[in-house]
Amino acid sequence: MGCVNISQSNYLAAFMRIFEDNYRHKGMRKQLVDGIRQKGISDDRVLQAILHIPRHFFMDSAFDKIAYEDRAFPIAEGQTISQPYTVAYQTQLLELKPFEKVLEIGTGSAYQACVLAEMGVQVFTIERQRNLFDQNKNFPFLKKYTNIKFFYGDGYEGLPTYAPFDKIIITAAAPLVPPKLIEQLKIEGKMVIPLGDGKVQRMLRITKQEGGILKEEEFDNFSFVPMLQGRKGS
Ligand code: SAH
Repeated sequence: MGCVNISQSNYLAAFMRIFEDNYRHKGMRKQLVDGIRQKGISDDRVLQAILHIPRHFFMDSAFDKIAYEDRAFPIAEGQTISQPYTVAYQTQLLELKPFEKVLEIGTGSAYQACVLAEMGVQVFTIERQRNLFDQNKNFPFLKKYTNIKFFYGDGYEGLPTYAPFDKIIITAAAPLVPPKLIEQLKIEGKMVIPLGDGKVQRMLRITKQEGGILKEEEFDNFSFVPMLQGRKGS
């Protein structure tokens, strides 16, 4: 039969990305940013970055309104695009300065990478799932961010060739602090990491001090998908 029934057409629509950023989207984004500010994010540069990036471009959904609700959302391969508040929270903890070298573990949708890039740092981001990595290669919006480099690999290994980094952000639940990533952090560099292997993780900021001594600061609890060992795909 040559016709598409309702459920099939809904299915097709649900997997189409919308690459139009209109006044309605901008209005919803402004409200999202106001909400995040009220929840306690005070770094204006973080809020400006979120205001500028069309989050609905990063999600396969016919319902672009959902992109501007403050919640996580499923992307491909059983992964999620982090909640905007969580993205803002981790980014604020990084205390970024222009032109710093930042390593991100868990590219996922690449939304967090774009928030970092908007803030004028050099981003190196690693994804362990081949399909997600490939999807980002074919995502035209990312071409404007010439300050993001994408890698397919295991985040536990980091990127020794490009180390050391000023800042490292881990966007998956880490069961332990990856030793190789600590090695790849500069002295006075900071790592923001959701630590824990249960349902809930504690956000930590680790500063590598002179002599390699680690200073740990504890923040709120969050819930991330797990940081897994090794790569997936070929
Ligand atoms: N930063 C993302 C959120 C991604 S969810 C965003 O803005 O959308 C976590 C991601 O980490 C998933 O894509 C998952 O595949 C990836 N991941 C998990 N373990 C990893 C590892 N060891 N190395 C690299 N990526 C990993």
